[in-house]
Amino acid sequence: MTSRSNNFAIAVHGGAGVILRQFMTEEREQAYREGVASSMKAGCEVLKSGGTALDAVQAAVMVMEDDSVFNAGKGAVYTHDGDHEMDACVMDGATQDFGAVAAVRLVANPIKLARLVLDESPHVFLAGTGAERFAEKHGMKLVEDSSYFDTKHRWRQLQQALKREKQNAGKPHTQLDHSDDREKMGTVGAVALDINGNLAAATSTGGMTNKRFGRIGDTPIVGAGTYADDKCAISATGVGEMIMRAMLSFDIAALMEYKNMSLAEAAELVVMTKFKEFGGSGGVVAIDAEGNVAMPFNTDGMYRGYTLADGTSEIAIFGD
Ligand code: ASP
Repeated sequence: MTSRSNNFAIAVHGGAGVILRQFMTEEREQAYREGVASSMKAGCEVLKSGGTALDAVQAAVMVMEDDSVFNAGKGAVYTHDGDHEMDACVMDGATQDFGAVAAVRLVANPIKLARLVLDESPHVFLAGTGAERFAEKHGMKLVEDSSYFDTKHRWRQLQQALKREKQNAGKPHTQLDHSDDREKMGTVGAVALDINGNLAAATSTGGMTNKRFGRIGDTPIVGAGTYADDKCAISATGVGEMIMRAMLSFDIAALMEYKNMSLAEAAELVVMTKFKEFGGSGGVVAIDAEGNVAMPFNTDGMYRGYTLADGTSEIAIFGD
């Protein structure tokens, strides 16, 4: 938790889960660190030049969507049927307006489409082929087929999940992206404060490996995986079913609003106590209107980083 007044700040995550030092190679660690650093840099450039928090979080998330080490955009995990279905949401704290998309298959940058929904649609949340029709109508080019998102490591993860399912007498086994000790990549998110004092949050994901039947996770659900108002902005990662049931992000915002808790107190209480007792695993990156940043997680690790206006910057992975 940082605690200083900053006229702009950004924090990002690349997913939380079983991220253990003993399974991390130097190259892999470097790839994540570089991914997080590039994402923060893109967001900071927007903020430094006086851009909005909304533009900053979109820029930061797009960098990670384009980086195949993360489970969002290129590199998204596989569904049970060997396809990719992605969810994303961006929320403007100044207006509490948001744009969200779910189960899109042919959109290279789902967060860009979520932003288009925010800016151009009378609706706030579009799903599946309808969302893709909306994208095309607004001049967004779709990828030709979903092989654009294919990666070998994700395919291996699906095969492992299917194997576990078989061993388990066919009991459906969806898998959090980082629940495999050797495959530790994930959902991405960003929160930012701009020089005008406005906050925004954005989250984008391929969801959970081996998900079925049009499953949608917490990421595009406002108050669950993504939330922003004039006091805080939050992006979550972890098992979506639990995050939705706990309304994780809104719970933090509500404690700040109604109990006058600080961001650090609220985020810590929700993620480390309430959510944990609820049986949920995951974490958040969160920021308040003073530029304080909190990044609690109750898993072994979370890819994360923050940069403040005074140049203070930190990137971390593990919990210890
Ligand atoms: N929260 C995401 C989901 O359930 C997964 C993740 O954070 O890795 O779709």
